[in-house]
Amino acid sequence: MKMTRLTGQGLPLDETHRTSDGAVQVGEVLRRKLYVVCSVFGGLVALVLLLVELLGAAPNASLLFTYAAQLLLTLWCTQWLLRGRPIYTGERIVLLCNVVTIVLQSVQVGRTDTPESLLLLQSIFNLLLATSILGYMILRQRHALMLGVGTYAVSTLIIALRDGFLDQGLTVLRIHLSTAALLLLLHALAWYRVQYTQEYLHRLRLEKQATTDPLTGLLNRHGLYPHVQTVLHSGGSPGSVILLDLDHFKGVNDRFGHLIGDDVLVRTAQMLNDHLRLPGVVGRWGGEEFLIVLPGMTQEEAGRVADHLRLQLSREPQPVVGTVTASMGVAQALEAEGMTELLHRADQALYQAKAAGRDSVVVAA
Ligand code: GH3
Ligand code: MG
Ligand code: MG
Repeated sequence: MKMTRLTGQGLPLDETHRTSDGAVQVGEVLRRKLYVVCSVFGGLVALVLLLVELLGAAPNASLLFTYAAQLLLTLWCTQWLLRGRPIYTGERIVLLCNVVTIVLQSVQVGRTDTPESLLLLQSIFNLLLATSILGYMILRQRHALMLGVGTYAVSTLIIALRDGFLDQGLTVLRIHLSTAALLLLLHALAWYRVQYTQEYLHRLRLEKQATTDPLTGLLNRHGLYPHVQTVLHSGGSPGSVILLDLDHFKGVNDRFGHLIGDDVLVRTAQMLNDHLRLPGVVGRWGGEEFLIVLPGMTQEEAGRVADHLRLQLSREPQPVVGTVTASMGVAQALEAEGMTELLHRADQALYQAKAAGRDSVVVAA
């Protein structure tokens, strides 16, 4: 399955991402799209703020610098992403530029008793929050916390050392405290996201274990039930089932041993999986029996599928054991028929196939 090197994100999801290339690509494509939308939107906001400041009565140089820098950064970021350049490098460059801007702005912020200075202070902390959010997206939780708190502490220290911000009244204190509270909330959200994802993945793993046969990796009986339900008339997609049983399998075990017997089961499972077209589903019904569920198929069509699989199995000798054959019973769901009845008829057909000399297919009457 299926989700870049989302390295460092600190989510257990990352492991899932790394397990398959498909997942890796999905993750990267989504992040790239998200970043492009954020960059374009951020760029438009920076442009509007820049124009408002420029056209104002007394443009503030520091604010002009901030907005212009942010505009340039978003423009660079957008073209970087749209040209398909590495997302990992782009994220880190933006993060670094933001931190440098925050520190420079903190040095530039004048005495905080003027409206312009307050505005600049607010804009510094807004950028800090945006940077922290990006930090939580691309870094491990602990590193993102250190980045947010560290930048906040450095910025606050620089401002305090210059002006003694406690002397500047309640407004400044309010800005500092509300930023600290938002950083804390951000960290709590990131923590919650990790816990939730871990729990979710744990449940998915348990669910998969409960419905998967460990030897062949196919669905087990428990996992097959919902699929059989769909081919009933009450299930919405009436179709057929094939019950397949390997012939004289006890003899295989007796002659070659249980491990070779297991290998035959694994190879048979692979063959069935490879030769079955969607939306068919194959699972291990138990022992050396497999169940194939064919939604929307009549018993004649299912019979042809069964015969194709039977021929395929007998034409591909197994490495140690040689040719292995199978008998199959096919049944199509009748109206008002339940799962038990359908499977019973398939089993009866299988019994007839065995009685007819094995390596054969019987379609239920
Ligand atoms: P038939 O042609 O009538 O189906 O004969 P058979 O020998 O295949 O049928 P039987 O029911 O007598 O034997 C089935 C054998 O399958 C017995 C059992 O040891 C073996 N078996 C069941 N599960 C496994 C498994 O997971 N691994 C191995 N190696 N053998 C298994
Ligand atoms: Mg059997
Ligand atoms: Mg058998």
